[in-house]
Amino acid sequence: MFSSSILASAVRNVPDFPKPGVQFKDITPILADSALFRRAVDALIEPYSPGAVDQVIGIDARGFIFAAAALRLRAGFIPIRKKGKLPFHAHEESYDLEYGTNTVAIHADAVAPGAQLLLIDDLLATGGTASAALNLLKNFDAPVVEAVFLIELTALKGREKILQTPVRSVIAF
Ligand code: AMP
Repeated sequence: MFSSSILASAVRNVPDFPKPGVQFKDITPILADSALFRRAVDALIEPYSPGAVDQVIGIDARGFIFAAAALRLRAGFIPIRKKGKLPFHAHEESYDLEYGTNTVAIHADAVAPGAQLLLIDDLLATGGTASAALNLLKNFDAPVVEAVFLIELTALKGREKILQTPVRSVIAF
């Protein structure tokens, strides 16, 4: 059985970053330690054996680091990026932030028809980013088997925004 407490204690809480009132969860101490980094990736992909999913979707930018675990699942990697960064024809999806909006995008030809998809991001807060990512994936005829996060900020109830996809997190704060 996997224990996430060693990972949780390695997350650095940085108060008031990037603005007053935010408790920023800094994962760089996990990334810097090869045993912890491996443990984090192991936990994220734990339910899956190689070949169980076809493509892993990572969200810009910290999600990319963990979604590169795709390699170990014998799956491809697909980036969801911020608007304006992808070079080819892309689908876009906007969502509301506290102030203003944000737009995420995915290449229109990225997903193989019928592929089993796994969505990975570093952190689930309000769920706005993840639900926009899942809306983007509705453009394709491919099931998302799970949305998985290294960290979930449970008080923000992000998982309540994600109704059609199973949600799992490794560390809950
Ligand atoms: P949300 O759309 O509110 O669920 O926010 C999720 C995204 O914002 C994730 O990709 C995180 O990288 C980032 N994020 C939001 N809140 C925090 C936080 N307290 N600490 C670190 N990253 C955060």
